Amino acid sequence: MHLIVAEKNISARRIAQILAGGQKVIEKKDAGVSTYSFGDTTTVGLRGHVVEVDFEPGYENWRSEKFTPRSLIDAKTIKVPTEKRIVALLQKLARHAERVTIATDFDTEGELIGKEAYELIRAVNRNVKVDRARFSAITPQEIKSAFANTTDLDFALASAGEARQSIDLMWGASLTRFISLAARRGGNNILSVGRVQSPTLSMIVDREKEIEKFVPEKYWQLGLLTEKAGEQIEARHTNGRFRDQKIAELARDRTKEPLVVTEIKEGTKQDRSPSPFDTTTYIVAAARLGFSAANAMRIAEELYMNGYISYPRTDNTVYPASLDLNGVLATIRNSPFKKDVEWTIAHRRPEPTRGKKSTTDHPPIHPTGTATKEGIGDDAFRIYELVLRRFLATLAPDALWQTLKINFDASGEPYTTTGGHLIEPGWHVVYPFSEAKETILPKFATGEKLPIRKVSLDEKETMPPARYTQSKLIQRMEELGLGTKSTRHEVIAKLVSRKYVEGNPLHPTLVGRVVTEALEHNADAITKPDMTQTIESHMQQIKESKRTRDDVIKESRSMLHAAFDQLEANERVIGDDIRDRTAEELNLGHCPVCGGTLAIKHLRGSTQFIGCSRYPECTFNIGLPVTLWGWAVRTDEICEKHHLHFVRLVRKGARPWDIGCPLCHHISSNTESLTEIPSMNETLLEKARSRHIYTVAEIARSEPERLSKVLELAPDAAQKLKTEAECVLEKLRRRSECRKFMRNHLIPRKGRSYSKIMAALKESGVSDLAGLAKADPGTLQKAGIGESEARDLLTEARITHNGRLLKEIGIPAVSLKKYIAAGIISPDEFVTTTPENLSKKTGMSIGTVNRHVALVCEYLHRPAPLKIPRARIEKGRKELLSVKGMTESVVEKFASAGVINGDKLLAADVKQLSVTTGIDKEKIRNYQILLQKKRENAIIRI
Ligand SMILES: [Zn+2]
Ligand SMILES: [Zn+2]
Repeated sequence: MHLIVAEKNISARRIAQILAGGQKVIEKKDAGVSTYSFGDTTTVGLRGHVVEVDFEPGYENWRSEKFTPRSLIDAKTIKVPTEKRIVALLQKLARHAERVTIATDFDTEGELIGKEAYELIRAVNRNVKVDRARFSAITPQEIKSAFANTTDLDFALASAGEARQSIDLMWGASLTRFISLAARRGGNNILSVGRVQSPTLSMIVDREKEIEKFVPEKYWQLGLLTEKAGEQIEARHTNGRFRDQKIAELARDRTKEPLVVTEIKEGTKQDRSPSPFDTTTYIVAAARLGFSAANAMRIAEELYMNGYISYPRTDNTVYPASLDLNGVLATIRNSPFKKDVEWTIAHRRPEPTRGKKSTTDHPPIHPTGTATKEGIGDDAFRIYELVLRRFLATLAPDALWQTLKINFDASGEPYTTTGGHLIEPGWHVVYPFSEAKETILPKFATGEKLPIRKVSLDEKETMPPARYTQSKLIQRMEELGLGTKSTRHEVIAKLVSRKYVEGNPLHPTLVGRVVTEALEHNADAITKPDMTQTIESHMQQIKESKRTRDDVIKESRSMLHAAFDQLEANERVIGDDIRDRTAEELNLGHCPVCGGTLAIKHLRGSTQFIGCSRYPECTFNIGLPVTLWGWAVRTDEICEKHHLHFVRLVRKGARPWDIGCPLCHHISSNTESLTEIPSMNETLLEKARSRHIYTVAEIARSEPERLSKVLELAPDAAQKLKTEAECVLEKLRRRSECRKFMRNHLIPRKGRSYSKIMAALKESGVSDLAGLAKADPGTLQKAGIGESEARDLLTEARITHNGRLLKEIGIPAVSLKKYIAAGIISPDEFVTTTPENLSKKTGMSIGTVNRHVALVCEYLHRPAPLKIPRARIEKGRKELLSVKGMTESVVEKFASAGVINGDKLLAADVKQLSVTTGIDKEKIRNYQILLQKKRENAIIRI
C-alpha cells in the first residue's frame, strides 16, 4: 500500500481525487477519521500538529519549591499525542505500508508536521520508504508533478521548526509562571508572557504612550476659491502650514484680486501596476475590505485547501519562472470574471510586476481554480475575487495620469492647485480596490486674470500618531522581524484573547500596560524586539544547516537565564507594582453601607467575592459563584440605581456569565429566602433593604436591640424576627448541604439540573440530608433519578448522614469505618444486632463493641443490653436452635430483642416481639408452641 499523509482532512480528500484520475475514490471512516483510497493508494489527513511538546512530568505544580519558574528553562521536554485517534490510525496504516509520502504544507511548520508523522511511522515500521511531495497549490498540475518528483524530508527545515517550538515553550512557560507568581495570580487569571507576544504588546503600549504624551500644536492653512467657466476651483497658499497666526493673517489680508495665472506645468505620471501578493500585503488589502487578519488568513487557507488559490503563507512577491502564468489565465477564464481575464489577456504587459522580496519556497498568492459565489459563500468569494483581481492587475499595463499644476499670484501671495486625469486606466480596469480619484481642471492660460470668490484661513491642530490597526501592526512586525508570516496574525489574536489589547485600532488594556511596563523597567530584553530577532536569524541558520537545533536552543537558554538574573533580583518590586496597579480593574464603586470601595476579591483556591475596603470595620460583602463558573471581572457598564460596575464571570471556551450589577443580583438572589421568614412582609423587606440588610444571615446574626432600632420594631418582634431568621438560616444550610451532596454524588447529565431534582424532592418532603437518608428509592426515581443511581445515592446519603450522627454520639472515626464496612450504618442497626455479632462482623473486641452500643442506646434513650456471660448465651442459643424450623437468622433477630433463650421466648409478648424483630406473629407463636411441646416431651421422658 502507498500511504499519503496530508496536513488536513480536506487536502487529503483533494489529493486523492486528483491522483485517482478517473478511478473511484472510496471514503472510509475509522474512529471518526477519514481515509480516501483508490487502487493501492490511501490518503489520510492530519489535523496540523498531532503531537505537542510539553515538559516532562513533575513540572505541573506552579508553587513547587524544587521546580521554580527558572528551572523550566533547562527542563527536558517530551512529545505527547494531542490527536490520539489520528495517531492511532496513522500507525495502523503505516504498519502495512510499502511506501509513505508526506504531503504536508510546504514550509517550516509543514515540514515539522511531516517530521512528526515520520517519527510516528518509524516507530511502528522501521523499513518503510518515506518520501516527501512539495507543492504550492492543490491543483492537478502541481500535485501530479509533486508526486512524480518526490524528494526526502528536509530535516534541517523541520529542526528549525522544532527549535522554535522548544524556545517558545521555554520562554512562554518560565516567564508566564514567574510574572504570575510574582503578582500572586493563578488559575484563570495568569499573566502570560511570550517571546513574540511581549515585544508586540510593547509596541502597542508604546504607541499609546506616544498618543498620551502628544501635545497638539496649532497651525493655520490658507486657501482661496476662484472660478473659471462656472466651475469653482480651490487653490492653497504655497507656504503650506503657517505656524504663526500673525503671519498667516497678514498673508490672508494681502491676498487681493486680481488672481493671475503665473505658470502652467503639464506632465504625465506613471501609476505602476501593483506587485504580487505576499502574506502581509494580502492581509493589508483584505483589511481594506473589512476582514480581520485572523479571518483573512483562515479564509485564504480554506481556499488553498480547496484548490482555489495557492498557498497563502509566503514572503515572495516575485512570480518564479516555473509558474505557468498562461495556464493560470486559461484556468480563471472559466471563472465568473471571464471579461476581466480576457481584457487582461488582450492588454497584457510584457513582464508581470515584481516586488522587492524573492524567495524560493512559494510563489506569491495567486488563483489556481475557479470558484463561484454559490459554491463557496459570500466572504470566501470576496477573498477569491481579491486574489484573482490582484493577479490580473500584476499582468495588466501601468496606468497613466495626466498631471496639471497651476501657479497663481494674488498681489504677491503665491497660490497653487493641481489636477489629475487618468488618461490610460491600465490595471485600474481590473482592480477596483485601490481608488483612482481624478481632479479635472479647466484650461488656463498664463497671464490670465481670475476673480477671488473667497479667502479662508483655517485653524487646525497637529494629530497624534494613529493607533495600530491589525494590518498595520502586521506590517510593522514584519519590518522588525517579529514572528513569521504564519504566526503574526495568531500573536495578535492571542493578545486580544488574553485581554491585553482591545478594539480596532488596537489599544492596550490596563493589565496589558502594567505587565509591559513592569517588564520594561526590570528586564527590558523581554519586551524589546532584538532578542526575538536574533532567534529568528538563528532559525534561518538552522534551515541552512549552518547551526544545529541544540546549539541554538542552548544559546536561547543562556539569554533567558540572563533575563531571569534581572527578574529574580526585582521579583518583589515587579509583583507589588503589578498588584497595586491592576487593583483598579477590580474596583466596582462605593460600598452602599459605609461609602468605602467595593472590589472583587479572589482568594486562594476557587473562592471569590465582593468585599469592602473598610473591612473589618465594614463587613458588607456579596458572595460570588466559585471560579469554576468563571473568573469574576468588572465590565464598563454601570448600574444606574447603585452606581456600581457590572460583574461578569469569564471562562475559557465558554460564553461569559453576566451577573450584572452585583447589588441588584445580591438583592434578587436573596429575596426568596428572606420571604421564608414568617414575620417578613413587603414593608419590612423594603425597610430592611433601605437599611442595607439584604440577607437572612445578617438578620440572624444581629443583636435584637440593633434590629429593633434599625427596623423600628418592638423588642419582642425583633427577638422573634431574629429567632425565625436563625431557623430559616439552619434550613438553608441543610438545603445547601443536601444540594452539595447531590452535586458530589450525581454525575452531571444533559437535560437534568440539580435545582430541578431538589425542587421535585422538596415536593415529596425531602429537603435535607437527614430526609434523604430516610427516603425510599421510589421518591428519588420520581424526581428523575435512575433506579440504580437512586440506590447508590441513598446508600451514600445514609452513610454520610448516619456517619455524622454516630460520630456525634461518640463513635471514633476508626471504629466507624469498620462498622460501615460491615454494613452497620444507622444507630438502629447498632441496637438490633447483638454485641457478639457486631464484634464478629467488625473484628473489634466485645468490650469495645459494648461500649459503643451503650453510647448509642443512651442516645436512643434505650436501656443498654445486659452483659450476659458467654456460656449462658451459648446455651440459650443452642436451645433455641433445637426448635424445629428455627434458623440462625431468626435466633439472631430474637437475640437483638433480648430473647436469648427458651425461657425468654416463652415469656415474650408475641405482638411486641414481632414489631421489634419483623418476624410474623404466627411464626413466633408457632415457635413458642414447638418449644413448649419439646419441653413437655423432655419431662415425660424423665
Ligand atoms: Zn463598607
Ligand atoms: Zn444595581
